[in-house]
Amino acid sequence: AASGTVTASQVDSLVQRHAPLCMRSLCDSLKLDHHLKHDGRLQYGLFIKGMGLSVDEALMYWKSAFSNITLDKFQKDYAYNVRYNYGLEGKRTNYSPYSCSKIIGNNPPSATENHGCPFRHFSPSNLEARLLRDNIGRTHVDQILQLSRDRHYQLACTKHFEVTHPQDKTRQDPIEHPNQYYEASKSLDEE
Ligand code: SF4
Repeated sequence: AASGTVTASQVDSLVQRHAPLCMRSLCDSLKLDHHLKHDGRLQYGLFIKGMGLSVDEALMYWKSAFSNITLDKFQKDYAYNVRYNYGLEGKRTNYSPYSCSKIIGNNPPSATENHGCPFRHFSPSNLEARLLRDNIGRTHVDQILQLSRDRHYQLACTKHFEVTHPQDKTRQDPIEHPNQYYEASKSLDEE
């Protein structure tokens, strides 16, 4: 989506409603811990940039999410990273949000990190609990778990999209990018 179409205050509800599990999971951790580690900030920060958040709104979003630190510390330690994602610092590259294959193939999260793809990096029992918590029916949960076990992570995510968007009558292309998932979900709302 074009930059400037989403404001900081809209991010959380849009993510919870339309984002794939990887990003909802990062959003949950951010709310819970008022912090995200470096790789999570990159994965999630570029995703919300792709949603249409301008750099100023992004700075506002991260500042209020990191509510346990002073403004001074935020400016010193984190504002640079946010501006960097937008190509305003360092190498001045206007970075793109990560694709699924990049997220799945990148360095896996340690026990204290939350980046990555849930279909690839969650333990089977965590993934199962998360899907059940989202009110996905038993049969569908089993199908998604099987696809993940068979290493068809993006197909598991595509299945997740299908069962959580039953109003979608067209067949979704396989999910290859978190922002593709988001835009497809959002467009169903706008129909
Ligand atoms: Fe996110 Fe892609 Fe994994 Fe889906 S398949 S959860 S969009 S990384």
